[in-house]
This record gives sequence, C-alpha cells and structure tokens, in this order.
Amino acid sequence: MKITEIKTFLMQAGAPSDSAWASDGKGHQTGSRNWLFVKVLTDEGIYGVGECSGWPRVIEAAVRDLAGVLVGEDPAHIEKLWQKMLVAQMAHGVTGVVGAGAMAGIDMALWDIKGKALGTPVWNLLGGQVRDRVRIYAHASTPEVALALRARGIGAVKTGGVRDPLRKVAAIRDAVGDEMDIMVDLHGPPWMTPKDAIVLGRALEPYHLLFLEDPVAPENIDNLARVADQVAIPIAAGERLATIWGWRQMVEREIVDVIQPDTGRAGGLTQMKKLAGMAEAHHIMVAPHSGTLGPIAEFAALHLLAAIPNALMLERIEGDWAGRNEVISAPPVLEGGHLLVPNVPGLGVDINEEAVARYPSQRNVSIASGGYEPGTEGEFVYVQTRLHRAAAFGGGKPRG
Ligand SMILES: [Mg+2]
Repeated sequence: MKITEIKTFLMQAGAPSDSAWASDGKGHQTGSRNWLFVKVLTDEGIYGVGECSGWPRVIEAAVRDLAGVLVGEDPAHIEKLWQKMLVAQMAHGVTGVVGAGAMAGIDMALWDIKGKALGTPVWNLLGGQVRDRVRIYAHASTPEVALALRARGIGAVKTGGVRDPLRKVAAIRDAVGDEMDIMVDLHGPPWMTPKDAIVLGRALEPYHLLFLEDPVAPENIDNLARVADQVAIPIAAGERLATIWGWRQMVEREIVDVIQPDTGRAGGLTQMKKLAGMAEAHHIMVAPHSGTLGPIAEFAALHLLAAIPNALMLERIEGDWAGRNEVISAPPVLEGGHLLVPNVPGLGVDINEEAVARYPSQRNVSIASGGYEPGTEGEFVYVQTRLHRAAAFGGGKPRG
C-alpha cells in the first residue's frame, strides 16, 4: 500500500453554548475555534482520518508541506514516517505544537488506515483494552450547571479560569456535596505568579479537588515545582506541550500527578502511547486535554485511553456547538458519565466533507474571548500578580 495524497479540511467551529468563548461584544466569534481534519489516501482505496490542533490555519500549511515527504510511502510503517516528518521540519527550528500538531493529525490517520487494513480497532493495535468505556469530565462555572451534569450521570466537573475560582469551587462543592469530583484550572492570561498560586492553592485544599491544573504559566517548570511542593492538591499540566521531550522533565522530576496531552497537538497516538508509558513509570495519570478540539481527536483519545492502564479521564465540552456532531459520521456514544470505546476497524469515525464545507475558517486568534482577562489597567499582559483579583483569593472586593 502506498500513500497517494493528503487532504486537509479546515473549518470554523462555533462556540459552545454555555461558554464565555462566544463573543468579544463586537459581534466577533473571537473564541470560537478552527478545526483542522486530515485525510490520508492510499492507492488501495483505504484512507485514514485525523485531526490537528495547535493553530490549525498555520498547521494546514505544514501538513501540505509534509505531504511531499509522505506520498509514495507505505502507511503501515508509522514510526518510520513519524521520524521522517520530524526530521523534515528540522530546518524550521523546534516547531512546538505547530509541528507536532501537523504530525498528530497525520499520525492519527495512519493508525486509522492500519486498523482498517487489518480489520481491527486502533485500541487493539495499541495493546488491547484495559477498559471498554472512558470516564469523562465536563465544565461547570456555576452550581446549576454542575447539578444538571450530575443529573445526567456525569460525575466530574472542572471550573476555574482567571475570575473568582475560589468562589466558584465553594459554590459548586456546596451544591453537589462530596459525590462529584471537582477540578480547577487556574490558567491565564494573566497567569498568576508562583506565590499567588500557592496562596490560592492552599485556599482550595479544603474542597478536596481531584486536581489543580496549570497554576502557573507553562514556560517555567521550576515555578510549577514550587507550587506543587507547597500545595496539597494533585497537580495537572501539559496541554500546551508537544512530543515526549516536551514532558520529559515534568514527568521525570515527578512535578505533576496528571499529564494533559492535547490529542491534536501532542504529536499523535504514536507519541501519546510512549508518553503514557513514561508517565506510568512515575505513577502519573493521563487526562487528555480536549477543550478546543473537534470530534475526530476525541475518537483517537478514546482508543488511547482504552489501551493504557493510567487513564484518568477525558475532558469533554458538554453542550458544545451543535455542528460538532454534524461534521463527522456519528458522535461517540455517551452513557452516563462515560464514552463507549468504538469497536469497529480503525478509529471508527469519518469526516462529513459537505458539512465541513459549510463552515469556512475565519480568524483563529483572540485576546478578548472571556477566557483571558485584561490586567488591572486594562492592558493585556501575560503574567500579573494578584492586584485587583483579590476576590479570587477569598480576600475582599476586587478593585476596578
Ligand atoms: Mg486547561
């Protein structure tokens, strides 16, 4: 079998219904996402599908470039082709999630091809099943949303962000009692300084969180280690990292308790399987990031999590944009708080190309998306000490 062509499908995904991503107040869908799907075709009529994240409009060009080194190759040799793609990018420098995002979608499609060619699900190629369903967690910014999710059988919710995380957690825990798992994502911008993250983390300790995510900016792993040492909550991080080398220090130094590789930009299933093994050696759990991802990467994550022992949960945007299910053949089956692992050859999902074409890509950068907050003086800064965010720490009224 030979690869004959790689097609890309770039689209604009609408914002989730219960989300501050929806608008910048000027009519722009600032926080809405671009999804990039790929299709790897072969001379035997079998094709595979995948999804890239990490800056989809830029990655689309990278995928087209990489196609030139893959056409004519046998898609069975996934590791060889992954290495070839990495080497092909060297002249561009270390390309981070852009390069790894391009490789991720192609790699995913190669596993899909292999599964279809052999007539077996991808989880079977990754070692077989540890589980036939994967627990999910959803997002909740209010007790009402958390209670509605619990009523549907979903047992874990994540809250947080840059505005009042302590107040949100207190309200949700008070409403749901001890039955639900609660996680907090403290992501910026503006990111907190390490000392502020420690103060807030300690204030969150009584709420028995499953994990505390991204308490400080991702560039400084020593700052993350300081927070992890000072706060008695399991720490999760890594959604912005790429390849096994991106996580190496975090895992080897056992700074985190949970790693959160983004299935569309971590480098592909080939990398995520290795990364899960690295984490397993350190008793670290895996909870893939999905916040901005489309539906094909979700299928890939299900196959991985079915096959690894240290799967914790899969992130899921419940109440996502309605078009999510429209652009693929069929969504995965959600039963209570679990997604069923597909039991058909390959990944078990296909692209609805006509539906994708109805949503042409617009811009995909934003600062005023609701997830990011201007600093004290209205400026957009990357890291800021607590300043007017005093309320976030349970310490009084915010300024300004
Ligand atoms: Mg996050």
